[in-house]
Amino acid sequence: MAPQTATAPHCSSAFVQDFMAYIEDRSPGEPEFHQAVREVVSSLEVVLEARPEYRKHAILERMVEPERVIQFRVPWMNDAGEVKVNRGYRVQFNSAIGPYKGGLRFHQSVNLSVLKFLGFEQIFKNSLTGLPIGGGKGGSDFSPAGLSDNEVMRFCQSFMGELQRHIGADTDVPAGDIGVGGREIGYMFGQYRKSNNMFTGTLTGRAPSWGGSLLRPEATGYGTVYFAAEMLATKGRTLEGMNCLVSGSGNVAQYTTEKLNELGAKVLTLSDSSGWIHDPEGVDNDKLAFVMDLKNVRRGRISEYAEKYSSATFHPVDNGNDGNPMWSVPADAAFPSATQNEIVGVDARHLVENNVQLVAEGANMPTTADGQAIFMEHGVLYGPAKAANAGGVAVSALEMSQASQRLHWTREEVDMKLRDVMAGIHKACVDAAKTYGHEGNYIHGSNIAGFTKVADAMIQQGLI
Ligand code: NDP
Repeated sequence: MAPQTATAPHCSSAFVQDFMAYIEDRSPGEPEFHQAVREVVSSLEVVLEARPEYRKHAILERMVEPERVIQFRVPWMNDAGEVKVNRGYRVQFNSAIGPYKGGLRFHQSVNLSVLKFLGFEQIFKNSLTGLPIGGGKGGSDFSPAGLSDNEVMRFCQSFMGELQRHIGADTDVPAGDIGVGGREIGYMFGQYRKSNNMFTGTLTGRAPSWGGSLLRPEATGYGTVYFAAEMLATKGRTLEGMNCLVSGSGNVAQYTTEKLNELGAKVLTLSDSSGWIHDPEGVDNDKLAFVMDLKNVRRGRISEYAEKYSSATFHPVDNGNDGNPMWSVPADAAFPSATQNEIVGVDARHLVENNVQLVAEGANMPTTADGQAIFMEHGVLYGPAKAANAGGVAVSALEMSQASQRLHWTREEVDMKLRDVMAGIHKACVDAAKTYGHEGNYIHGSNIAGFTKVADAMIQQGLI
């Protein structure tokens, strides 16, 4: 395959090195945030040269500084009557083009660096959707895994008891992310409504019977597959008959699998934090229904898949391993859908050795910088997260519109709008990459297209 572009995605020009030294000095000990900034900044030198007003207005320096960071104590009581204390956050990164919008993550790995990386990415992702939403992210180092519904409810109520002071339908509209699904959104919305005595569109990801949008649970996974199909179409190819690797087994992985099955592809793998399964016969819709019940209702482990289906094998996580052997399974396409940095250099190397054609990121920042460089070098069609997984936040924004108009669109209407948004994002990436001399490079395309719209809005709104 021919390389996508002659320019490496993470060129370390003097400009990038200087800017990263500035970031590392101002925000020490935040490696995930540095990684996200480096990726964006590596695309922007050419833009800053072409548009000197961005330098004059210090747009980049302003954009890497969150407008506001809120951190708070979250005390709650477990079923044994013991008091627990977690830390809650909301990073309100940029509201130049609309209210802050971005998910809440509940996982033990959450810290300020992770949320700043996610919030920063969200600025560009939300801009790419073409919808009026700014960037934010929040969450807690609390993990719901293994806790009772009552414990999760008490935590959510305590968390929202504080967060509700800082959010609102026209200010900041959180949604779900890792560890925050329909159950957690329900408990948080209940607390928000009680505290404010108002039924507003402040949280998205709600059940359809109380203001949620149809197709919101499906949107990130479906959107990632639509984006993959758009990338393949530029080469006259489709997903039909492709063997695919999917990681994760949560919301994004489940609906990525469902849409891949619908389009005639075969999903060979799924995973969770304890390991991965390999099913050479494919995770068909019956097996997917089992996974949905296992993960969403019984809250079990993916190893149970291999106990149920003799066609599959389970491979526990080996922490001594450099990389994840799941990515060595020969396949045509990969859909990382679990978490950040789950494809490291050695994994990318295995994927290209097996001739992977396409990588579309359902998870946020799942590929490390050296992994990205390997994909670029080998001409893999590589859809970075901020473009490929933007379908989720796009349908969240459609949920906001429906909530404020007090009306409901049908599943077909929402799906049509989602397809349009994903096609629009794909076109914006392709056009921006071409304009700035990086034809076919979706990393540069997504960063540039996402950045310029927000940068222009910031200039138009003055120095605030
Ligand atoms: P879920 O909580 O529903 O599922 C997450 C999955 O990833 C689970 O299978 C989980 O395993 C696994 N996982 C999480 N952390 C790790 C880890 N450190 N190591 C290995 N496996 C891990 O989350 P989502 O599906 O919603 O989110 C997945 C990714 O997609 C995240 O990067 C998220 O930011 C991104 N995303 C999600 C959107 C959405 O609409 N939900 C929108 C855009 C992006 P286990 O069950 O063992 O914890």
